[in-house]
Amino acid sequence: MSFLPVGRFAPSPTGPLHRGSLFIAVASYLDARARGGRWLLRIEDLDTQRCRPHYQDLILQTLQRYALNWDGEVWRQSARREVYAEFLQRLHLHPGLYACRCSRLHLRGQERYPGTCRHRGLDGAEHALRVYVDARRIDFDDRLCGAQSDQPATQCGDFVVWRRDQNASYQLAVVVDDACSGVNSVVRGADLLDNTARQIYLQQMLALATPEYAHLPLLCDAQGRKLSKQNHAPAVSLEDPVSELAAILTRLGHPVAPSLCRQGCGAMLAAAAADWDVRRIPPTTGPAT
Ligand SMILES: [Zn+2]
Repeated sequence: MSFLPVGRFAPSPTGPLHRGSLFIAVASYLDARARGGRWLLRIEDLDTQRCRPHYQDLILQTLQRYALNWDGEVWRQSARREVYAEFLQRLHLHPGLYACRCSRLHLRGQERYPGTCRHRGLDGAEHALRVYVDARRIDFDDRLCGAQSDQPATQCGDFVVWRRDQNASYQLAVVVDDACSGVNSVVRGADLLDNTARQIYLQQMLALATPEYAHLPLLCDAQGRKLSKQNHAPAVSLEDPVSELAAILTRLGHPVAPSLCRQGCGAMLAAAAADWDVRRIPPTTGPAT
């Protein structure tokens, strides 16, 4: 039976989409559609300090303007706390969790959690929860970055799966949502590559399938900095989506003919999907123009 991908785009509504985030949306969309698969949309809005509902509306509007039409309902992480809590209970049983009261200040400068609270026996109701990490090595083949091998125990140590404010950590929420929505093909930015071993570790602990992964090169600005909200990357145009999409498709190694551009974003995406090969994405992308 041939593989039918289920991909997803999972933005955080902390600002409008910029070219770097739209680049990821277009790549994940094309990669799923080119193989006859589904493409889901998930709003990662667990960071209540930084997420804003009007940015969520703007993101949906932007995707529609670019003819990036998703399948099914939009998932919102803020509505899924009870589901995350169920999976947390499974981690309690195996491999086990413990409460951690270490502050960011206390852990500053340490890449790996040193296990300070492992034997403190703290009450989890007031603190973050960390999962016990064993010494296993996580190997996976990234479709763009090649063979990867990481050991979470030395990379990050026991990591947080439940936050002090009593909701899922990013790592747990992503793993649970991908599994519950049937996502089997993840296309996302290379800034998340070093999260992947932790997420596969959680998949193994929870007996969930591991999706295939492709981590995309990050777009940079003229100063060579990653395009991001933190670096004040400008929002993509809602007035002229065709020019923006044409630039993104060229960056993805799949330029479309000017005659197609006159037919709009839907026709451009269809043409790029007909010709799609994820391996044609250039490994480095240089400054955005
Ligand atoms: Zn601690």
